[in-house]
Amino acid sequence: MLDFVQLEADLDQEERLIRDTTREFVDEHVRPAIGDHFEAGTFPTELVPKMGDLGFYAPNLEGYGSPNVSETAYGLLMQELEAGDSGLRSMASVQGALVMYPIHAYGSEEQKTEWLPKLGEGEAVGCFGLTEPEHGSNPSGMETYATEHDDGYVLTGSKTWITNSPIADVAVVWARDRSTEGEPVRGFLVETDRDGVTTNKITEKLSLRASITGEIGLNDVYVPEENVLPGVSGMKGPLSCLTQARYGIAWGAVGAARDAFEEARQYAQDREQFGGPIGRFQLQQEKLAEMATQITLAQLLAYRLAELKERDDMQPQHVSMAKRNNVRMAREQTKVAREMLGGNGITTDYSPMRHMANMETVYTYEGTHDIHTLVLGEELTGIPAYH
Ligand SMILES: Cc1cc2nc3c(=O)[nH]c(=O)nc-3n(C[C@H](O)[C@H](O)[C@H](O)COP(=O)(O)OP(=O)(O)OC[C@H]3O[C@@H](n4cnc5c(N)ncnc54)[C@H](O)[C@@H]3O)c2cc1C
Repeated sequence: MLDFVQLEADLDQEERLIRDTTREFVDEHVRPAIGDHFEAGTFPTELVPKMGDLGFYAPNLEGYGSPNVSETAYGLLMQELEAGDSGLRSMASVQGALVMYPIHAYGSEEQKTEWLPKLGEGEAVGCFGLTEPEHGSNPSGMETYATEHDDGYVLTGSKTWITNSPIADVAVVWARDRSTEGEPVRGFLVETDRDGVTTNKITEKLSLRASITGEIGLNDVYVPEENVLPGVSGMKGPLSCLTQARYGIAWGAVGAARDAFEEARQYAQDREQFGGPIGRFQLQQEKLAEMATQITLAQLLAYRLAELKERDDMQPQHVSMAKRNNVRMAREQTKVAREMLGGNGITTDYSPMRHMANMETVYTYEGTHDIHTLVLGEELTGIPAYH
C-alpha cells in the first residue's frame, strides 16, 4: 500500500491493529460484492452489525461502550473503509460522527444510555437530518420547525438527501424551535416509527450508489420533551457534528484515491501493449508519479489534522482545508487511474471509476468545495463572502 514517506512507521500497536482489522474486513466482506451493490444501487446492510462488532462506529468517543481510540486510529479506520467504498465510510461517518457524536456531546444521560450502546453495536441505525429541499449550502435558512405541545414538541417540515434515512431507527433532526424567542435551532431525536414520519428513498443517483439515501417527511410529528438534545442550541449543534464528520472525510478520501492508485499501478505492470507492459511508458509513469505525490501530500495533511485534533487544537477551518484539498485530490486522481485502465476502467470490475463517481458526492456533501473555499477565504481575509 502506498505510504511513500513512511507515515505508518510511527503508528502505535492499537493504530496498526485497527488499520489491519479494517483492511481485512474490506478485503473479505466488501471487495467481493461492492461492484454488484454499486450497479444495483444497494447497500450491504448485513454488514451493519458486523461493523458494530468490530467497533467501527465512533470508537474515538469515550464511554458507553466506545473505547476512545486515538484520532489517528479513527482516521485510519475511515481511510481503510473508503478504500473499499465511500458508501461504507459514509455509513460509519453518519452513524458515528453525525448521530452518536451529538448524543454523546449534547444528550441527556438517559439519551446516552438508551442510544449509544445500540448504535455503537450496529443494533440500531441512525441518520442526520439537516439539509432541506430549499436549503443545502445555507442550512441556517431551514424551514423545519418545532412547536411546544403537551410536554413535548410537534415537528413539521422536510429534509432531503439524508444518508440512511430509509433504514434508520432514529433520526437526529435539526429544526427551529418556534416556542422560544429567536427561534433557535435545536436537535431532536425522532424515532422513525413515530406517526407522521416518512422516509422515501432517492433512487436516481449516479454517485454513491452503494449507500442508501432518502428524505425525511415530518408531518406534525410529536416527540416528548425528553427527545430534545438538552446540551446545545443554535447552529453550533449541527455544525460541530459536521466538523467531526468532515475530519473522517479528509482521511477517507485518501483511501479512495490510494485504492484507485494501487489498481492503476498493478494494471500498468500487467497490461501489455506494443510488446510489453504499459508501465514502461514514460506517459504512464508520469501519471503514477503525480498520483503518488498528491496522495502523499493529502496523507500528510490528514496526519497533521489528527495531531491537532488529539490535542484539542483543531479548528473548523483546518478541517475545511483538509476536506477541500483531499477530496479534490481524490476526485482528480481517481479519474487519472480510470484512464490508465483503458476500456476496462469504465467497468465495475475495477475500482477507479466507482471511486471517481463516488467522489462527486463527497465533493458536494458536508459542505461543497465552494463553501469550504469561502470558509478559508473568510479565515484568510476576515471578510465573509457567502452572501
Ligand atoms: C449522496 C448524498 C448524501 C447526503 N447525505 C446527507 C445527510 O446524511 N444529511 C444531510 O443533512 N445532508 C446530506 N447531504 C446533503 C448535502 O450536504 C448537500 O447536498 C450539500 O450541502 C449541498 O447542498 P445542495 O445540494 O442543496 O446544493 P446548493 O447549496 O444548492 O449548491 C448548488 C451549487 O451552488 C454552489 N453555492 C452555494 N452557495 C454558494 C455561495 N455562497 N458561493 C458560491 N457558490 C455557492 C454550491 O457550491 C454548488 O455548487 C447529502 C448529499 C448527497 C448528494
